[in-house]
Amino acid sequence: MDTASLIFTAVFCALLVLSLITRTVLASRQIRHVARHRAAVPAAFSDTISLPAHQKAADYTITKSRFGLLDLAIDAALLLGWTLLGGLSWLNQTLLDALGGGMLQQLALLAAFALIGGLITLPLGWWATFRIEERFGFNKMTLSLWLGDLVKGTFVGALVGLPIAALVLWLMGAAGATWWLWAWGVWMAFNLLALVLYPTVIAPLFNKFEPLQDETLKTRVNALMQRCGFAAKGLFVMDGSKRSAHANAYFTGFGAAKRVVFFDTLLQQLSPAEIDAVLAHELGHYKRRHIIKRIALMFGLSLLGFALLGWLSGQIWFYTGLGVMPALDAPNNALALLLFMMVVPLLTFFLSPLMAGMSRSHEFEADAYAMAQTSGADLASALLKLFKDNASTLTPDPVYAQFYYSHPPASERLARLLAASPAQTARPA
Ligand SMILES: [Zn+2]
Repeated sequence: MDTASLIFTAVFCALLVLSLITRTVLASRQIRHVARHRAAVPAAFSDTISLPAHQKAADYTITKSRFGLLDLAIDAALLLGWTLLGGLSWLNQTLLDALGGGMLQQLALLAAFALIGGLITLPLGWWATFRIEERFGFNKMTLSLWLGDLVKGTFVGALVGLPIAALVLWLMGAAGATWWLWAWGVWMAFNLLALVLYPTVIAPLFNKFEPLQDETLKTRVNALMQRCGFAAKGLFVMDGSKRSAHANAYFTGFGAAKRVVFFDTLLQQLSPAEIDAVLAHELGHYKRRHIIKRIALMFGLSLLGFALLGWLSGQIWFYTGLGVMPALDAPNNALALLLFMMVVPLLTFFLSPLMAGMSRSHEFEADAYAMAQTSGADLASALLKLFKDNASTLTPDPVYAQFYYSHPPASERLARLLAASPAQTARPA
């Protein structure tokens, strides 16, 4: 191997080891911190959360964190297997021998890579649902529903993924030195299209969406939306209980396709005033332009990503340094895409604290908006119920939360909500 390849191999290994150590240290901190605080409910929650509920949350968090460590080890082994141990090189050569070098071979390589990775990690998904979620009473899926989702998801993935992959591969071969700029444009257009098609076409393949029936709630929600100057095309209830007891509510779509979706599990757990407060929080994300900011950031970061890919795909050491022999007489574009998708998370992982920090400050802003439009006490009691019903820990490790949490820990959020509404206190959930 030449020097450039060796240097790149060393950088890759260093990044992999560094991210593995960071992830392991963080997960161990979280496990230890939660275990240490398992015996007693934190003082701020002593009136609202029972000891058994607190301990269930601790056990759930610890179980999931341990499982995360196993997942981490398997992912790292898979990454090494594909790259330095020669898996991807072998797969590419086998397909070249069978199909020759052309678009078909490149698409086959992408599909085979996705299928093999999917099959290897399949038992992990099964374990997470039927062992962990099941044990804590959250899983509502049957094995046949799970398998049905798997088949449907694979078909939708192929139907959506293969044409876009073909288009990007074609650009890589035909659009000259600035192909990455064109490919970026295609990718962005695809993302915007997905924002419209996901709620209207794809999500209904997996769940039933029915117009909200409850007239009292409808009147309340419509009044709130009018007050906030927000027009949505419809209020829908989704049968989330088909799969999980976890509750949620969200806005999706853009422009005329915008809709509000409540999980049926949320409507069962919260009072109308609490639902109002949760919805006002979501409206706050729109009103404070968080969605637009997030999309703009994604546009900017992916432009950087495509520029980097454009440069890397032309360097031989990018392939050889990762254990892959590029073909001399056939396009290596699919190889470049796969290697890039495997390597980039090692870099972006170290951006997670920045992204999580931005997301947390957005959550505080949305809470403040909800407080101004509805009541802080209602939002606080809704959050408390959701924390309890989702068995989220009230005592996360501060460093872990700083690094990963997209939402501020319950104690911080509730403290702000209750401090701002001193006349009321959160009702016990
Ligand atoms: Zn939020």
